[in-house]
Parts: sequence; structure tokens; C-alpha cells
Amino acid sequence: MTNIEEKKDIKSLTLAELQEALQQFSEPSYRAKQLYEWMHKKLAADYGEMTNLPKALREKCRETFDYTALKAVKVQESRIDGTKKFLFALSDGNLVESVWMRYKHGNSVCISSQVGCRMGCRFCASAVGGWERNLRPSEMLDQIYAITRLTGERVSNVVVMGTGEPLDNYDNLLRFLLLLTDENGLHISQRNITVSTCGLVPGIMRLSEEHLQITLALSLHAATDEKRRRLMPVAERYSLDELMRACTYYFEKTGRRITFEYSLADGVNDTREDAAELTALIKPMNCHVNLIPINPVRERNFRRSDRRAVEGFKNKLEKNGINVTIRREMGQDIDGACGQLRRRHLAVQSEGKA
Ligand code: SAH
Repeated sequence: MTNIEEKKDIKSLTLAELQEALQQFSEPSYRAKQLYEWMHKKLAADYGEMTNLPKALREKCRETFDYTALKAVKVQESRIDGTKKFLFALSDGNLVESVWMRYKHGNSVCISSQVGCRMGCRFCASAVGGWERNLRPSEMLDQIYAITRLTGERVSNVVVMGTGEPLDNYDNLLRFLLLLTDENGLHISQRNITVSTCGLVPGIMRLSEEHLQITLALSLHAATDEKRRRLMPVAERYSLDELMRACTYYFEKTGRRITFEYSLADGVNDTREDAAELTALIKPMNCHVNLIPINPVRERNFRRSDRRAVEGFKNKLEKNGINVTIRREMGQDIDGACGQLRRRHLAVQSEGKA
């Protein structure tokens, strides 16, 4: 296997860093900006496309830097709503998946932040195979760039809600956010970006200080420590009390309302009592609740709550003045839940080998 850490990863450099890195080639300084725009604005898949750059410079870059690029291994399109799921191969052969969704207010892409995940949530397909490695900033960008090229349409919203725990890959996530929102690149508005976390408290505290206007989504799924610990191992590390304090801090520092994600599993966290406990927990906060009927995953034995239970849960929260929506489910016919497409692909591969 090739060692992908050998060379500097050119697409993960900021414009200032690229300017510095190109100094060794004694090229005019405007070259760095041209190159940066080829990568981050025109979304070039290779140096070959950068036709207004001298061939010699392109060759030197090819020798000196690593240029990440994704290969689409599989694309599935929903017949119901046009949602597309992409399975991409990274340069080292690892697989990640991303989703493209079309909404009235624009196109949204859901990206992965790691290959696999080590958080171990009991209902989640991404946790099944464990963690392989972190994604580089360029590899997170590449998912959006590749999808923009493949669909031919502009992406206006990005959610970091695919496979992986973004705050477990903090430095790369932050660099990715800076590059994605940079005016010399795609220039996506910070307000159109959501980062979803299972609740790594130190990461939330750090993110609060970054002066960003992104939305933080917190995967809550239970309103008592005891119940949350049964669903999410991360709850052994941080109590709900600590978590709520971190979320309040995020709101105080950024003025951004928190989104709580709550996936409903039949008989597990969808009763009237659960709704009452959730109300009590989050009522003092400026927040929004996103209810998601759980996606049954083959390797997990959770059943989704039925429509009536979901509606009942929603009404109970609303009666208490809590802002709540039921997540509109997209791409139900194409392996909806996070990590399912990759999971299935890997399973088929290993069955094939056996
Ligand atoms: N690690 C991050 C982001 C990835 S998961 C996080 O935990 O937030 C994105 C969201 O989907 C999380 O809220 C996660 O708990 C939820 N999720 C995972 N598997 C699911 C499933 N099978 N059904 C419904 N929601 C699921």
C-alpha cells in the first residue's frame, strides 16, 4: 500500500500556505491564486485541466504534492425524490459515502468526516465496522466537489452528518470549514453548514470559541443519562448535564440555536414519559428538535416508531412550546441511513471473497 502521508496535500492548504509553498518554484505570486481557484472554484479533478498554468509548473506540483481525487464507485438515485447516494473510493482504496438532496431552497450535500466511526452508537450502521482513519480536509471537500461536477448543479448547503464523528477529527474539520467558506473557493455561507456531533463536550467547547456561524446539531436520542448510555457509549464519558452546559455555551458564544436530533425507536425512547423527560431537559434552551423515525439497520435490532407514535411525540413537545419538526425522509429506496450503502458494499465484497 502506498503511504499517502508522504507528500503535502495541496488541496488542504489555505491560499496563504499555498503561496508560501510555491515560493520554492520561483513563479510569479499570482500563480498560487490561479492554482487555488482551479482546485477550489473550478473544481479541477487533475492538474491536466489547469490549462492556463505553465506545463512545467504543473509537473513540479505533481511531483511535490499529493492531489486527492475521489472515484465514484456507485451512484444510486431515488425514484421517489431524486436523492442521490454516492459511494466514493479514496486514493488508498477506502470507501466513503455522501448524499445529495434537492430541496426547494437549494441543493444539500451530506458528507462523511471519517472512514468508519469509533463512537459505537448502537443503532448506527457506520459503527458496525469500527474506525479506519480520519478524512483529510481535502477529502471532505472532494465529496462536495465531485458531486458538484457529477450533478452539474451548485451545492448551497452542507451537512456533516454522514459516517464519522466530526469532532473526533477536529483539526481537519476546522480546516475543511475554512476552505469551504473561503471567498476564493466555493464560498458556501457558514449559516448553510451544519455539523452533527454525538456529543464530545471538549470539542463543542472548542468549537464555541471559533467565531463560526455554523449550526451545531447534537444527537441526543434520549433524555436521561441511563437511557442514553444504553444507546450511545459516548454517554459514559459525558453526562447530559455537562452536555447541556456545553450546548448553552455554544449558543451564548455564537448566537446560533442548537438543533437536537432525536431518532425514535419503537418502545425504546418514544413513549409519553420520554417526551415529558425530553421537554424538561431542553425547555430552558433556545433550540429546535428534529425527530427522525429510526432507520432499521440490518446488523441492529431496533424497530422504527410507527407514524402515530411519532406524531404523538411531536404534539407533546409542541404543546410545551418546543420547536419541533419531523425530518422529511429522503432516499428511502436507496439505503437511507448513514453508512448503509458502504456497509452493504463491504459485506458483498467479503461474501464474494469467502
Ligand atoms: N457522528 C455524528 C454524525 C453522524 S450520524 C453524530 O452522531 O451526530 C448523523 C445522525 O444520524 C446522528 O444524529 C445519528 O445519531 C443518526 N443516526 C445514525 N444511525 C441512525 C439510524 N439507523 N436511524 C436514524 N438515525 C440514525
